Amino acid sequence: MLAYVLFGILLLHDLWRPEAAYWYAALLEDGGYGRLSTERAAFLIRETDGTLTLQPWRDRAHRRASFRGSVPERTIALLHTHPRHDVRPSAHDREEARRLALPVVVITPDAVIAAMPNGNELLITTLER
Ligand SMILES: [Zn+2]
Repeated sequence: MLAYVLFGILLLHDLWRPEAAYWYAALLEDGGYGRLSTERAAFLIRETDGTLTLQPWRDRAHRRASFRGSVPERTIALLHTHPRHDVRPSAHDREEARRLALPVVVITPDAVIAAMPNGNELLITTLER
């Protein structure tokens, strides 16, 4: 139980790290700052040395990004962009967070919001324009 709580705290902490914010910004740029109608998505991974790395999904062509296969080891969150007007996690995002037991993070020019596995939504940051 304690380990679970500690894991939760570390997980949340990671989503607020400047390194994570760097990757949010990189994905946002790749996604055309919410102007494109297609999503960009990636796995956010905490390497064994504690650094955060990004593993972008190959699928770049679809309105809703998807991946096949399994989630890479040490993944701490799924990141993806949304069109600008669509800042909140969708019902599908919330389902995926629950199913995968991982935060599903929505990145738009206005905000970064995570759908958490427990059904909560967390505002991680509002981004500067
Ligand atoms: Zn989404």
